[in-house]
Amino acid sequence: MKSVEEHLASVLAAIRPIAPIELGLLEAVGGVLAEDVIATHPLPSFDNSAMDGYAVRSADTSSASAGHPVTLPIVGEVVAGDTGAYAVPAGAAVRITTGAQLPASADAVVPVEWTDGGSAKVEVRQAAAPGHAVRRSGEDLRAGEQMLAAGTAIGPVQVGLLAASGRAAVRVRPRPRVAVLSTGNELAEPGTPLIPGRIWESNSFMLTAAARQAGSLAYRQGIVADDQRELMSAIEDQLVRADILITSGGVSMGGEHDVVKAALSRLGSVEFTKVAMQPGMPQGFGTIGHDETPIFTLPGNPVSAYVSFQVFVRPALAALQGTEAKRLRAVRAVLAGPLRSPAGKRSFARARLEGTSVTPLAGQGSHRLAALAAANALVIVPEPVTEMAEGEKADVWCLP
Ligand code: AMP
Ligand code: MG
Repeated sequence: MKSVEEHLASVLAAIRPIAPIELGLLEAVGGVLAEDVIATHPLPSFDNSAMDGYAVRSADTSSASAGHPVTLPIVGEVVAGDTGAYAVPAGAAVRITTGAQLPASADAVVPVEWTDGGSAKVEVRQAAAPGHAVRRSGEDLRAGEQMLAAGTAIGPVQVGLLAASGRAAVRVRPRPRVAVLSTGNELAEPGTPLIPGRIWESNSFMLTAAARQAGSLAYRQGIVADDQRELMSAIEDQLVRADILITSGGVSMGGEHDVVKAALSRLGSVEFTKVAMQPGMPQGFGTIGHDETPIFTLPGNPVSAYVSFQVFVRPALAALQGTEAKRLRAVRAVLAGPLRSPAGKRSFARARLEGTSVTPLAGQGSHRLAALAAANALVIVPEPVTEMAEGEKADVWCLP
């Protein structure tokens, strides 16, 4: 049996990051930057007003107070978007709006709230210090400064910054394209009537949703019967459009009925192993096709499939984007009840984390999807440990 670490290490060793491509800003969201982005312009690109008010020479307002206002004639107006050349003569003011260019020789903006709001002349009731309400060119970013480093995940703020800096496209390792297949003769499409002996198919929905939640572009490809030819043709169909494949079912220790194992073992590039974990012992991983596309063959039991996804597939999706991010958040918490675990296996026990207390849930069977749905965390019980008592501290992964 392989340890969880050994299996994860062999998975990560086989993953080659997706080649970077240039994408438009919104397509790049969810991608990981494959270039250092340098500011070509200062940000802001010109001195401008932070408020609606009056651009002045600050010295002209230095004696202003509520009791002794200073009155200045208004010689013009500049609003956001105006592109002309403006200047403030000594002893005068120019009306200005937020985001408008600061006129030449002005060094401060008197907010409208400090004045009578006049339009031919303005009564200033408070002195504006030099630089007041002025946004200086380059105060956010200087031209030539690095604004985003390679390896940064592109989210809403990053894409906003790129746009503000004039970039329309950027080089990223894009979100991985994931194809999800389920295998099993017993599987019926949800929404169709159930014949005794059949079950409604759930893994492909859950795994597709989990892969999307982990930031990939995942697509459910549905149900494949336990038939080697059908399986291989379904897999081949996906190879052209996926960066990674996930199947579930058909990898148990049984014989010819475990069709995924039977069909893929023959290729020689997918390895089937027992991993010392519970749930999720039977695992398969390898590469397939001309492009050596990674393929995970996860166990069929829903809880096993889900835990396997979080333990192995999630880090692999990050590795496809050349990062180590996206691991589940790990915390230490106090057990609010006892736990048992098989000797020599790492358990991922479904649990409810509340503050620093974690309660193991009843129903740890790997088919217990409703019990999994009640969980928000996994308690990790190390391999040598067979029992943990209430009050002990445990490592806990927060489920997303
Ligand atoms: P297998 O790994 O194919 O032997 O399946 C193990 C268990 O998981 C069996 O009880 C299957 O019926 C169940 N199972 C397999 N695939 C799915 C699926 N896609 N959705 C729900 N249950 C499944
Ligand atoms: Mg099966």
